[in-house]
Amino acid sequence: MLAILHPDTPLDSEEYRHTMHFLENLPNVSLRVHEVQGEKQRLTEIYLLGDTKTLDKDEIAALPAVERVIRISEDYRILGRHRDDQRQSGFQYNGVQFGQDNLHVFAGLCAVDVPEHVEMMMQALEQHGQVCTRMGAYKPRTNPYSFQGHGKGCLPWVFEKAGKHGIKVIAMEITHESHIEEIDTCLEKLGRPTGVMLQVGTRNTQNFELLKAIGRQSTYPVLLKRGFGITLNESLNAAEYLASEGNANVVFCLRGMKTEAGNPHRNMVDFAHVPVVKRLTRMPVCIDPSHSVGSREHAPDGILDVMHATAQGVIAGANMVLVDFHPKPEKALVDGPQALLMEELSAYLDDVQLCHETWQKRQALYNRIRIGF
Ligand code: PEP
Ligand code: MN
Repeated sequence: MLAILHPDTPLDSEEYRHTMHFLENLPNVSLRVHEVQGEKQRLTEIYLLGDTKTLDKDEIAALPAVERVIRISEDYRILGRHRDDQRQSGFQYNGVQFGQDNLHVFAGLCAVDVPEHVEMMMQALEQHGQVCTRMGAYKPRTNPYSFQGHGKGCLPWVFEKAGKHGIKVIAMEITHESHIEEIDTCLEKLGRPTGVMLQVGTRNTQNFELLKAIGRQSTYPVLLKRGFGITLNESLNAAEYLASEGNANVVFCLRGMKTEAGNPHRNMVDFAHVPVVKRLTRMPVCIDPSHSVGSREHAPDGILDVMHATAQGVIAGANMVLVDFHPKPEKALVDGPQALLMEELSAYLDDVQLCHETWQKRQALYNRIRIGF
């Protein structure tokens, strides 16, 4: 069971003391207090764990500091929506708001290669008013002899360039918990010119020890990718590992499923699950059309499959787009063939905006006739 307190309830108020006294004395029930800092207000959520079946929901709802009470299921205790459409979603990080209603594009290099390409990418992003990017420093590769990423060696110049071009958040995959400290130490040394969203790749979705380590820190939010060969429920449970350890600032990323049925795409595009994840959880939902489609093939309409897939996800309400770009794809060390080009950035961003606005219009359209559900 979950008791949500009135927004901004002071922790030293009489209402709070009275409420906590009552809850702390419930037999066989333990409490877990979770603070959610939203854009405008701070919410305190109190999870009641243990013997809660016989508790009187109305009695708890009547406590002075309690706004409402939700019965929660076993699945996704913290990140789950539990059929409550009003629950606050998302979080703020380094001045950027992530939620289930807005949208950010993270266009950038699949893998950091040379300073010149990083510079060109970030400059283009700044020119287009973008404050987020993707930059891979630690690359999980299928083949042990393939380029593994520059690792911590490239962090100083990548972070410096990000700061110079006003980039506030970099999605950066980590494959080992020691990478958190490498990133943190480097950012600290440089005076935190930018921020990092720690990305967990599809190969590590169920690397529970890595998830627990990332979940134990709350300095950096997390972008968790769906596992390529497991159920959606299993991937959402993986996200809950992060929250159960203390970090609920998680964005969930759909990136396609590995199956022959997806051919000729690299993965079977699964963006019809955007609304499903939003219904089941409070996480903002990201789509990765590059790793889903995996090529620069286009239809006779002159639009690349990557762009069509992006449109499908955004029109369904996606909140973040992780997409590969490269100034010279033929020189890219990883995933060059699927990268979009600098000269496509402007149209791509316009297309994303168009689709996001269309999603908003679709919402208005259906909310007008919404009856009884
Ligand atoms: C990536 O985003 O660079 C990546 C490796 O993606 P995924 O984990 O989805 O394969
Ligand atoms: Mn890649």
